[in-house]
Amino acid sequence: MPETIFSKIIRGEIPCHKVYEDAHTLAFLDIGPLSAGHTLVIPKEPAPTLDALSDESAAALGRVLPRLCRAVMKATGTTAYNVLQNNGADAHQAVFHVHFHIIPKFPARPSGASGLGIAWNSGKLEPEAAKSLAASISSSIQ
Ligand code: AMP
Repeated sequence: MPETIFSKIIRGEIPCHKVYEDAHTLAFLDIGPLSAGHTLVIPKEPAPTLDALSDESAAALGRVLPRLCRAVMKATGTTAYNVLQNNGADAHQAVFHVHFHIIPKFPARPSGASGLGIAWNSGKLEPEAAKSLAASISSSIQ
């Protein structure tokens, strides 16, 4: 995969405000925060999207994410937050190295930096379509 800015951060060639590091993961503050404490958690493995990530890196991320959420909550005082993970340009991904956003959510603020805003345009799950879709996804699991 093409080199991204996150590989340079992992190698220490570009500075970051690091909050955590272990053998498989790194966490640092987002340079364009949606709210105070907006943190990125990345695997050291350079996979562009979540579906391309190894089980080992996925497990390492899963292990550390709740701990980092608790740390962000404690440091910012928030009780609400979103964990966001974008895959693909159409899904708002800008940096093609897997990353999880931990974004504290605060009550609306004059500054606007209250966290993630979501337009949740929900549809309706039709039973017949749902049955075949669930079966299709289920049989696609490898
Ligand atoms: P996404 O749209 O999910 O790909 O988000 C990429 C995120 O990376 C954005 O929130 C950026 O603000 C953040 N970002 C890009 N470059 C840096 C950097 N050098 N240090 C910290 N965060 C960065």
